[in-house]
Amino acid sequence: MEEQVKDTEITTLTDIPTGSSCIISKVHGHGGFRHRIMEMGFIKGEKVDVIKNAPLMDPIEYSIMGSHVSLRRSEADKIEVVALEEGFHPDFDFNGTIEAHVAREVENSAKTITVALVGNPNCGKTSFFNLATGLREKVGNYSGVTVSSKVGTFYHDGYTINLVDLPGTYSLTEYSPEELYVRDYLLNHHPDLVLNIVDAGNLERNMYLTTQLIDMNPRLVMALNMYDELEKSGDKLDVESLEKMLGFPIVPVVARTGRGVGDVLEKIVRIYRDEEGYTKHIHINYGENVEDCISSVKKLIDADQSLRDRYHGRYLALELIQGDKVITKSIESVPAFPQIKEAADSARARLEKEYRGDIADIVSDIRYGFIRGALKETLTPAKEDKRNLAYALDTVLTNKYLGFPLLVIFLWVMFQTTFTLGAYPQQWLESGIAALGRWIGGLLPEGMLNDLLVDGIISGVGGVLVFLPNIIILFMFISFLEDTGYMARAAFIMDKLMHRIGLHGKSFIPYIIGFGCGVPAIMATRTLENPKDRILTILTIPFMSCSARLPVYLLFVAAFFSRNQGLVLMSLYAIGILFAILTSLLLNKTVFKNASDQFVMELPPYRFPTVRNILVHMWDKSVLYLKKMATVILAASVIIWALGYFPRPKTEMTPAQQAEQSYIGRIGHAIEPVVKPLGFDWRMGVSLATGLAAKEVVVSSLGVLYDAQEVEGDDGTAGLQAKLQSVTDENGNAFFSPLKAYTFLLFILLYFPCIAAISAIAKEAGRKWAAFSVVYTTGLAWIVSFIFWHVGLLL
Ligand code: GDP
Ligand code: MG
Repeated sequence: MEEQVKDTEITTLTDIPTGSSCIISKVHGHGGFRHRIMEMGFIKGEKVDVIKNAPLMDPIEYSIMGSHVSLRRSEADKIEVVALEEGFHPDFDFNGTIEAHVAREVENSAKTITVALVGNPNCGKTSFFNLATGLREKVGNYSGVTVSSKVGTFYHDGYTINLVDLPGTYSLTEYSPEELYVRDYLLNHHPDLVLNIVDAGNLERNMYLTTQLIDMNPRLVMALNMYDELEKSGDKLDVESLEKMLGFPIVPVVARTGRGVGDVLEKIVRIYRDEEGYTKHIHINYGENVEDCISSVKKLIDADQSLRDRYHGRYLALELIQGDKVITKSIESVPAFPQIKEAADSARARLEKEYRGDIADIVSDIRYGFIRGALKETLTPAKEDKRNLAYALDTVLTNKYLGFPLLVIFLWVMFQTTFTLGAYPQQWLESGIAALGRWIGGLLPEGMLNDLLVDGIISGVGGVLVFLPNIIILFMFISFLEDTGYMARAAFIMDKLMHRIGLHGKSFIPYIIGFGCGVPAIMATRTLENPKDRILTILTIPFMSCSARLPVYLLFVAAFFSRNQGLVLMSLYAIGILFAILTSLLLNKTVFKNASDQFVMELPPYRFPTVRNILVHMWDKSVLYLKKMATVILAASVIIWALGYFPRPKTEMTPAQQAEQSYIGRIGHAIEPVVKPLGFDWRMGVSLATGLAAKEVVVSSLGVLYDAQEVEGDDGTAGLQAKLQSVTDENGNAFFSPLKAYTFLLFILLYFPCIAAISAIAKEAGRKWAAFSVVYTTGLAWIVSFIFWHVGLLL
């Protein structure tokens, strides 16, 4: 390796011996490192005195801006300097006594841009190189062991540009000397900028290298060479959109004739001077599984300062997970190496098991998915490309006309199956739970314990447990759609529509999951790279009617809307979606003013998921729900039971009277003024309060408060339904009307999601946003219900 690239003739801080001084001309490196170093005072034009620089010894001690600091050798090596002659006056002043030639040298170095040309063989690098440097300046040759590169120097717009023509490669792995050479150059010889030359006529293959560069995270400009060929073929490329999605400048070029070469040089200077406005650093999203592995390895890497300075942490993590031998060896000396390697190895083993394939194939499949998605949105081929079977389905599934109707059909099938298929196990569970309650009730003597177990725990937790089959089936569908690759298509189809409301197609997946449960949905927003998109999605997820609201909907719809049940139910889902849209529009106009970014929607290849994987994913998601039952719902059931059970009545009372004089009744009466304007009584108020724990609890508390047991035998829900229908007000008229029932359902739909969802929001978006969500959803629910109730009364 060492011999491959001869050092370019730059002087860095490490070259300056003890007792000498120098002036900083340029700081290399990326992101956080650059920032930290510059904060310490290492900026262009500053004078540095070397206090102690012992060869082979770390760290080196410096004096800068009147204070002593020490830097690691690896850090000091990234600071380019101009040496000052011995005996130079120590307390000089940059503008005053400094010698003119030193100032000039500093200025020259700052005005020198080293640009590495990276691209596939035959993409036109040498043509570009000759055109840019050719007639103007000298061309030098640097050779390594087996491969070599050329450096050409020329002037442009007051800058000296060193253009390095690196060997052509298809990839930046460790499999050929060319690849190793180019990668080593990019990682260890800090060019100021990488110019990625791609063959515009063969974008899919050429951009593979680009995805690796994106992972590596240098400053990038892309030259779309052979643009003439692209134009001749009749293909259309939306360069501007592609630029916005990838986050760096892309310039059409014809290196053969020189068209666009000047534009490239201009972009290079602008990027170097940080003047290019909209550049952003994007991540290729490798999907939940790989991303989880990357972040666990990256966490260990980021704990080590020297690694963080040398590599972009995400890049290093990804390479280590892929088991790159050269890069693994290069970090061997780091103290945390054993842990890091162990984490990377186990991540690799996990992924290879999950995807049943080689790690290199997994990663490259996803990279091609990224390219595929980027090009699908920007490249309109003159004739449809049918070569790739893995993507053949896309011609139908993401078709301009068929895509959306097909998506609607798939979703309809998913929800329909969830509820019809789920109804059977739900009935079995219901009778099982009722039997268990009777058995325990008969087993134990009458009294508090009996009451706690049967009315508190079994009916409380049981009332929720019956929805587990629905949830499992819904999650099975979601896992299937994710694992086959269809979910990515759904996001793709929805992207344009979602942009209208200031969101992004990728938010669509969390929304779908949100129909199952808000907690995994909120966690699924991690795939959104833009914090604004994430927060917006998180805040609107609670408006997707989660499966916990369904029992409440079903109870009231069955009781008060004998006709059009399906329609009423659908209207609630639709109103939820409507409020999500309105909320998003509102927040976009107020809190998040800047326009939504364009992102690449990855289109991974379709695969046939294994049963095992679907089961594993389904289980992962269902576990959350089970946990919720074992914790929040269990605790809430006990608390609600206790509040309704105590204080014990002194005289004989009906259960309804007992409920009213209990603590829960007192709380209900206390909050009645708040819910009265909505047409609700204290019982409804209490049930809403208990719904804070989990929405399903509303049903069980209504059961207790309206004293459902009195009317019927075992079947709780049917009895409660009849009871609700027969409740009367003081005047003997029916208390519930369809209007009142619907108002109540609107409130259920919109208010405070549940404790679990709010704590998920706090974890993912911060406490401030969680507090906002509580106030916003509940306030909205109150206002909407108030308006609906009063307008309804008028009509
Ligand atoms: P390298 O391997 O990346 O250095 O590519 P070269 O510069 O050697 O170019 C490969 C071939 O592509 C040569 O025959 C060039 O003449 C041709 N070529 C380079 N740029 C263009 C271009 O913009 N348009 C067309 N049509 N051909 C080009
Ligand atoms: Mg060449």
